[in-house]
Amino acid sequence: MVDHIYNDEIKKIKEYAEINNVPIMQDEGILFLTSIIKNNNIKNILEVGTAIGYSSIMMALVAPDIKITSIEKDESRYLKAINNIKKFNLEDRITLIFKDALDVKLDDKFDLIFLDASKSQNINFFTNFSKNLNSKGLIITDNMSFHGYVEKTEDEIKSRNLRGLVRKIKQYKEFLENNENYDTKFYDYGDGIAVSKSKI
Ligand code: SAH
Ligand code: MG
Repeated sequence: MVDHIYNDEIKKIKEYAEINNVPIMQDEGILFLTSIIKNNNIKNILEVGTAIGYSSIMMALVAPDIKITSIEKDESRYLKAINNIKKFNLEDRITLIFKDALDVKLDDKFDLIFLDASKSQNINFFTNFSKNLNSKGLIITDNMSFHGYVEKTEDEIKSRNLRGLVRKIKQYKEFLENNENYDTKFYDYGDGIAVSKSKI
């Protein structure tokens, strides 16, 4: 659990996200994610989509020996994340990369890869980073339901862009279901979360 002295700072980050429309994880989703980290004794995490550092901070606070690398392509959010991480004295444990994740090549290995960036690029993120996953590691993907739009019919979705995005999320879902190297379970928590466990 989050130490009580940090509660105020967490609240401030959440308020900032709300006011500035930064799509940080919902409470239910973050609770699910952090409990997985705890229960599976996860220590090394790669996050794609830092935003302002909220989920990175929450994951790092699960245990003092957790290390996180997180990638963000938006400069103002990246800078905000640096500031937020400093407030929690987590700069030694959270490494930020300011870059488009599709241009990032890493050699490190992680117990968990958390995909929470552009929802239309998830197949590419998965493919780019799955080689960085430790044996029996987890790839967790947020926003599989995308505010409930993924469960709607095409007629019900007015915006063409949104229909395209929903199609991409459905393709990604199929990609996960058909991926024989991973065992994937889908959960309704928060905005819909997929947990894919490497079989090898
Ligand atoms: N994980 C955060 C929320 C991330 S919101 C939290 O819960 O606190 C998604 C973020 O992904 C946005 O800030 C967006 O700028 C970033 N993003 C989208 N596509 C990206 C890409 N290709 N590479 C890096 N970051 C990306
Ligand atoms: Mg998300």
